Amino acid sequence: MNDCIFCKIIAGEIPSTAVYEDDNVFAFLDITPVNPGHTLVVPKKHSTNVLDTDDETLASLFPAVKQVAHAVKKGMEAEGINIHINNGSAAGQVVPHLHLHIIPRYADDGLHLWKGSEKKYSEDAARKIKEAL
Ligand code: 5GP
Ligand code: ZN
Repeated sequence: MNDCIFCKIIAGEIPSTAVYEDDNVFAFLDITPVNPGHTLVVPKKHSTNVLDTDDETLASLFPAVKQVAHAVKKGMEAEGINIHINNGSAAGQVVPHLHLHIIPRYADDGLHLWKGSEKKYSEDAARKIKEAL
């Protein structure tokens, strides 16, 4: 955890541009925004991603995410907002400290999520997921 870049940002050991802070949550601008105003919301308590985060921390996170998302949308005059979490390197997670991307979106911004997915629908997936619950 001591080597975690986002823990260092939360502690002020690495500079960041903060936009929101409360007892449990910190939010700051992403250094490589996909659109201007791209913001990261992180719990102050270290965990890797959603899958290893305790329920109390998750519960404290989402009200702040909603508040920051409203502010990003209003402040950046966005038409929509993506709230995105990468969980695991295979899912695109680079920084191993839970973070939610809040991305202001515009109808003509040229970003395409899930582009090119042509996978077949399979009800077998539901059986596998339900068996794993
Ligand atoms: P991930 O791919 O892990 O979901 O996203 C990590 C995000 O953290 C990336 O969008 C990247 O630009 C951002 N990031 C990585 N290092 C820093 C940093 O030192 N400062 C800030 N503000 N953002 C960072
Ligand atoms: Zn951390």
